[in-house]
Amino acid sequence: MHKKLFIPGPVEVKEDVLQKMATPMIGHRTKDASRLQRSVSEKMMKLLYTNNQILLSTTSGSGLMEGAIRSCTRKRAAVFAVGAFGKRWYDMAVDNNVPADLFEVEWGTPTTPEQVDEVLSTGKYDLITVTHNETSTGIMNPVGEIGKLLKAKYPDVIFCVDTVSSAAGAKIEVDEWGIDVCITSTQKALALPPGLAICSFSQKALDAGRQVENRGYYLDLVKLYDYIQKKDHQYPSTPSLSHMFALDYQLDNILAEGLEARFARHKEMADYVRAWANKHFELFPAEEYASNTLTNIKNTKEISVSDLNKKLAMRGYTISNGYGKLKDKTFRIAHMGETTLPEIKELLANIEDILGL
Ligand SMILES: *Cc1c(COP(=O)(O)O)cnc(C)c1O
Repeated sequence: MHKKLFIPGPVEVKEDVLQKMATPMIGHRTKDASRLQRSVSEKMMKLLYTNNQILLSTTSGSGLMEGAIRSCTRKRAAVFAVGAFGKRWYDMAVDNNVPADLFEVEWGTPTTPEQVDEVLSTGKYDLITVTHNETSTGIMNPVGEIGKLLKAKYPDVIFCVDTVSSAAGAKIEVDEWGIDVCITSTQKALALPPGLAICSFSQKALDAGRQVENRGYYLDLVKLYDYIQKKDHQYPSTPSLSHMFALDYQLDNILAEGLEARFARHKEMADYVRAWANKHFELFPAEEYASNTLTNIKNTKEISVSDLNKKLAMRGYTISNGYGKLKDKTFRIAHMGETTLPEIKELLANIEDILGL
C-alpha cells in the first residue's frame, strides 16, 4: 500500500504530474529544449516575483546552496543558522575552502534583522546566507525584513536565501526583498519528484561571482548563467529533461490555482495544525515565526513517535520524527504542495484515534 506522505519532502506528487516525467526524450541541444527551459524559467519568475534570471540545476537544493556560497563569496560569508539546514551552508563553505563564520541561535527561534545588523556592522562580510523556512525546527524567518535592512545599510552584500521548503507554499518576493540568490528544489512545496534545483540569480550576484577565481565546475553559477545567455536557455551538461517536462506542467497548475490562493491554502492548513498542536501538545517554534509549510510539534506526552508512525503506516499515512537532536522530542507534520485541509483533518483524526486523544 502506498503511504501518503506528510513529511517535509519528498511530498505527494499528483498522478498527472508523475506521468509528465515519462514524456518521450528530446535532444538537449534542440530548439524544443530551449523552449521548454525558457518556459520553466518564465513561470518560475512569476512564482518568485522576480525579473532575475532563473538557473536550473540537475542536483537538489543542496547543490545550488553549495554552488551559491562558493561562486559568490569574495571575502567572507556570514552564515545565519536557526537549525540543521542553515548550518549545512557553513559545512559547505568549510569543505570548499570558502572563508565563513557561523551565527547560530537557539533552535526554535528566528534569525532577526538585529542579529544580521550586528554581524554585518563589523564590515567583515560580503555575502550572507539565511534560511527562509527551517525544516528541522519549523521556523519561518523574517526574510523580507532582513532584506529591507540590507537594502538600506548593506547594499553590496550578496543575499542568499534557502527557500527549499517554502517556495510555492509561501509568498517569497525576491525583487522586493532584494534576494540575490533564491534557492529551491522540486520535492517540497512544488510537489514534484526530487532531482532538480532552481534558483534566481541577480546581476549583483553575477558581478560578485565574476570576481571569484575558483568557482568549481559543475556548480559554477556564473558559468550556468553565461551558458544560458549564449545558448538560449540550454545548459553546459545534460539536464534532467524529465523534471523539466513535469515542472513546466506543474507550474501551469500552480499558476492556475492562483498564487495568492495557493499561499492561503498553505496558511489555512498551518493554522489548523498549529491549533491542533496547541490543544494536544505544544508548538516547538516561537508561534509568531511558525512555518506555513510544516509544523514541528513538541512531544509533551512522550509518545513513541516511531510506534505512532508504524500504526499510521498501516492506515496509509507517514509523518516525520524530529530532526537530528530533536528526534523523539518533537514530531513534524508537513502541509505543503498539493495537500489539502480535508487530508490534514483526516490525518489528525487518525493520530487522535491511535493515541486515544
Ligand atoms: C530539504 C531542505 C534542504 C535540502 O534540499 P535537498 O533538495 O534535499 O538538497 C535544504 N534546506 C531546507 C530548508 C530543506 O528543507
